[in-house]
Amino acid sequence: MAVFRFMTDTDRGEKMKEKVLFYLKEQNDYRSGEEISQKLGVTRAAVWKAINKLREEGYEILSSTKRGYKLMVSPNSITAHEIKEVLKAQRMGVDIRYYDEIDSTNNEAKKLAREGCLEGTVVIADCQKSGRGRLGRVWDSPPGEGIWMSLILRPHLLPTYASQLTLVAGNSMCEAISKVTGLKAKIKWPNDIVVNSKKVCGILTEMSTQMECIDYVIIGIGVNVNTAAFKEELPYATSLLLEGHQEYSRKAVVAAFLECFEADYDQYLTYQSLSFLKERYEKNCITLHQKVKLIGRADNLVAEAVGITDEGSLVVKKEDGKLEEVSTGEVSVRGLYGYI
Ligand code: ADP
Repeated sequence: MAVFRFMTDTDRGEKMKEKVLFYLKEQNDYRSGEEISQKLGVTRAAVWKAINKLREEGYEILSSTKRGYKLMVSPNSITAHEIKEVLKAQRMGVDIRYYDEIDSTNNEAKKLAREGCLEGTVVIADCQKSGRGRLGRVWDSPPGEGIWMSLILRPHLLPTYASQLTLVAGNSMCEAISKVTGLKAKIKWPNDIVVNSKKVCGILTEMSTQMECIDYVIIGIGVNVNTAAFKEELPYATSLLLEGHQEYSRKAVVAAFLECFEADYDQYLTYQSLSFLKERYEKNCITLHQKVKLIGRADNLVAEAVGITDEGSLVVKKEDGKLEEVSTGEVSVRGLYGYI
């Protein structure tokens, strides 16, 4: 069921701001308030208001009484407008809802999904007040530093397939980070992304079912991009900035992820199996060929991780040489020497 909303004053203000920004970017030089208002068909006061709002958001805009306005620097922001400008994906990111601050992007995504939003809708926030990890654990999501986003999917699949989508998304984020930063990002099975053995990204998949089929799946993703320091309680956390010693564009990572995921999601729906991705996933997976401890199982088994199945389970080789498949969600995997 689609729900229609009328445009509010805030929506109009946002649209105006985007138009002025787009014009200044396109012109890449001084433009007078008069010219901007004529070209966009709005009043000078509306232009002035939009310029002020953009400045509040961190855009550096020079102004001179004679020459008008010129955009000098754009902030490292992840507003819908900034992401759309660089995004090549068609359906993933079809609708991007940006918030300066939110409780949890997964909660908002669930609300939108229930209201009938399109597949590929993205909820993204600069800061989350109650970001969550698995099992209700806290996910630290401070402002200005990370990517806190949720992607809404509506696959025609049985609920048992949903966990496989987490692996597809994890692989896309791993490849997106490597592509944008040049860092060697790796997947800690099933879906954490690590750089130099520390966690830069976590993924939380949630779903709703109807008549035994998936109604929607929410892929919640948190990436530490430009975090300069972490709390003491997070010894295994790191950021792209800490590992790469430079700031990275958050929107470039978001766009690279959505583009990679769009292509792989299509393939996944065609095969309804991870067979098409297995080679890439195994290459990107740091858990393989390591001794791991299966936490959360009565026997706390220690075994060697040797492969991934087409369904996304981890194949482990026990001390007696027997193989066993461990499914996602069943256990947490920890290496014997720390987080990996
Ligand atoms: P797990 O690594 O056990 O799968 P989750 O993916 O559920 O854990 O993420 C929650 C855990 O991640 C928290 O308990 C905390 O230890 C850690 N954490 C919280 N915020 C961050 C962050 N911004 N970066 C890295 N790790 C974090």
